[in-house]
Amino acid sequence: MPNYKTRISLATPTLHGDEQKFVQEAFDRNWVSAMGFNCEGIEAEMKAFLASGKYDSEPGNEGKEINVLSLSSGTAAIHMAVKLAGIKRGDLVFCSDMTFAATVNPISYEGGIQVFIDSESDTWNMDPKALEKAFKKYPKAKCVMLAHLYGTPSKLDEIRTLCEYYGAVLIEDAAESLSATYKGKQTGTFGNLSAISFNGNKIITASCGGMLISKDANQREKALNLATQAREKAPWYQHKEYGYNYRMSNVCAGIVRGQLRHLEQHRQKKEKIYRTYEEGLKGLPVKMNPYEKCSEPNFWLSCLTIDKELVYSKGGAGKEWIYSNIANGRSVKDISHEEARGIGPIELAAFLDAANIETRPIWKPMHLQPIFADCDYVTAGDNTDEDIFARGLCLPSDVKMTDEEQTFVIEQIRKYFDMCR
Ligand SMILES: *Cc1c(COP(=O)(O)O)cnc(C)c1O
Repeated sequence: MPNYKTRISLATPTLHGDEQKFVQEAFDRNWVSAMGFNCEGIEAEMKAFLASGKYDSEPGNEGKEINVLSLSSGTAAIHMAVKLAGIKRGDLVFCSDMTFAATVNPISYEGGIQVFIDSESDTWNMDPKALEKAFKKYPKAKCVMLAHLYGTPSKLDEIRTLCEYYGAVLIEDAAESLSATYKGKQTGTFGNLSAISFNGNKIITASCGGMLISKDANQREKALNLATQAREKAPWYQHKEYGYNYRMSNVCAGIVRGQLRHLEQHRQKKEKIYRTYEEGLKGLPVKMNPYEKCSEPNFWLSCLTIDKELVYSKGGAGKEWIYSNIANGRSVKDISHEEARGIGPIELAAFLDAANIETRPIWKPMHLQPIFADCDYVTAGDNTDEDIFARGLCLPSDVKMTDEEQTFVIEQIRKYFDMCR
């Protein structure tokens, strides 16, 4: 099989040079430590960005400010949100189930207990029907942790209505969805608290870093204090509670200031990549990751699912095969194509890997993870996310991917399905 010259990546940082200007200034002014003019700059710029769209005209949001705080990672921002939501030992939190572990681990840092909520098939995000069922089962739960997977907005109206009805705090994990909008409004501005990430593979990066978004200026102040070791106001170092070292450095803030200027450009390229896959994979037994028409995803990762009939009947992977291989610690690379003759995402991944194309499995649902074996999982009846996991794969979605490279990826996928016929 002819390999492509260089490996085609899933998603890597795309830098433009503007970043260097802000970083240079940090060096020139000898200000590379945490908190500085770039941190203030990115906070002001991000606030303006998030507030654009329809934020101010939304009922209930008039006069409410968006408060942002730059932090060392998206995970740190989620942790701060969990603390501000008041989650304490034994508190239940309804969580997106099919997501990255960083969405839900910070709940455990505070002694909270996750109740995992199945996904729906329209957006792959939290199923409002399953969430309603969970509220009925656990009426005491007071917090919902909602991830917008792969940059696709969740069913926010339905979920927000449920949160309001049951008096629950909504936390949005918008780590993957910066610049995605729902009914014209930015994701990350719907929750009482939200987190975004500037990790290296996200739509824009600070090399690492994240941001907490809050509707309440006091919450921002509280998070700022916690993120800087929780010092009390006193002439000496005085502590009443445990603090953290979670601030973003002035260097990282400089990188993301440069990146923010290219966010829309990245979003457009990601959308073009998605549309090109959509067109190029027509006629194959696959579907692209779906979204609702009232939303505009940022298309962070393009994903496909292989049609059910093939995966579950063609002697291919099936769930058990995938689970047992992953459970045994095997990576896609170790699985030869001969061995993986069936039709399934892991086999397709192995095939593409041999052609020097990087892919990634769909996030394995949290309720299937050994560390969360004791947690409850609520589904409206379909175990939709287990099905998406068993049939789905994330495709190369790098902003720098050339048309020629994407054509090669599409050709290889077509070739795989030709071989499987
Ligand atoms: C990347 C990511 C995070 C964590 O962000 P970091 O900045 O890497 O800590 C959290 N949730 C989701 C869904 C993510 O994709």
